Amino acid sequence: MLLKGKTALVTGASKGIGNAVAETFLKNGAVVYAVSRSEGDLSKLQAAAEEAGTRVVFKACDVGDEPAVTALVKEIIKESGGLDIVVNNAGITRDGLIARMPAEAWNEVLKVNLASAFYVCKAVSMHLLSRRGGSIINMSSVVGLHGNAGQTNYSASKAGLIGLTKSLAQELAPRGVRVNAICPGFIATEMTDKLNEEQKAALFGRIPMARMGSAAEIAAAALWLASDLSTYVTGQAITVDGGMTM
Ligand code: NAP
Repeated sequence: MLLKGKTALVTGASKGIGNAVAETFLKNGAVVYAVSRSEGDLSKLQAAAEEAGTRVVFKACDVGDEPAVTALVKEIIKESGGLDIVVNNAGITRDGLIARMPAEAWNEVLKVNLASAFYVCKAVSMHLLSRRGGSIINMSSVVGLHGNAGQTNYSASKAGLIGLTKSLAQELAPRGVRVNAICPGFIATEMTDKLNEEQKAALFGRIPMARMGSAAEIAAAALWLASDLSTYVTGQAITVDGGMTM
């Protein structure tokens, strides 16, 4: 019950890593506002909430739509009475070599993965400053640190999230608001299901722990960053990747 009495907003909570983060937060007593375009695995979150004696509230929103995000954050702050934890997790891939990448694939990935975090952070920053506390967690990636052929758009968005994290951490630290990023490696979700067996085998060869990570293992890092176990940690990009990029 590390998050008892806290309220969290988690984007991209319908499946994968975001769903696991929301579930872990609920199991630890937080009230969770689960944001995505579709409900997805909401029933799993409702069951976790019931068991822990807390609640999950689903809000449909396209995080790439700034006016919608601004209005939603305002609504959640009013409805909840105050936010403590924000996880910018929603993300997409539109992979391809740069010579063949339509500008639309670049723009879409930058909008959903990076601009969305700006929209959310902008909308919550004054609120968290006025509460003199809070934890913002941005879901980056190891490719934001090291790059990846075929993912110029995705890598740029994830590197951008690290820059946003470090700059915002400096802006908000004096009032006790912490901002960190998580850089997952190769995690079993629908996003990585798209890879073919050859691509997966090549990736396994680069992971000392010789396996994919689970969404729950990323959620555990998010729990630590969201909780009072990490009160002196801000501006960090924490890699959780089975040793892939050590
Ligand atoms: P996923 O299973 O594909 O889930 C993506 C989530 O983002 C879904 O809940 C989806 O919900 C939501 N989403 C996508 N576009 C959205 C939009 N425009 N507005 C609102 N929500 C949107 O992906 P995942 O593997 O869990 O990835 C989660 C995050 O971790 C992403 O930022 C990803 O880049 C990052 N990451 C993943 C890995 C990995 O190996 N899986 C590694 C490093 C980083 P709806 O479709 O219902 O909107």
